[in-house]
Amino acid sequence: MLIETHAHLDYPDFANDFDDVLRRATEAGVTRIISIGTSVESSRRAVELAEKYPNIFAVIGVHPTYALQAAEDVITPLRELAKNPRVVGIGEIGIIEVRVCLYQHGVRERKKFTIR
Ligand SMILES: [Zn+2]
Repeated sequence: MLIETHAHLDYPDFANDFDDVLRRATEAGVTRIISIGTSVESSRRAVELAEKYPNIFAVIGVHPTYALQAAEDVITPLRELAKNPRVVGIGEIGIIEVRVCLYQHGVRERKKFTIR
């Protein structure tokens, strides 16, 4: 049994041949795929995919790259999404990565997300 633990199946790259992607993964022995949301919207899409396909599960979160564009309150919608039984984790929230991303964008302000 193989488990793909970090995929972004909600990305538009897969829109045209999504079923083919899943078929090829199954043929290669991948029995489960964890699709990671990178924003609240992306997390919603990951949950929708997990609800639709029994071999897909969702991880939700806001990737540091999208943190500056995110709404002030991402915790409330993520907390709601986290109640879904198809959600198996919170991800894409690395603090070190936030610093790197903000440095790369020349931004001094930091957004801080704390999940309690
Ligand atoms: Zn990722």
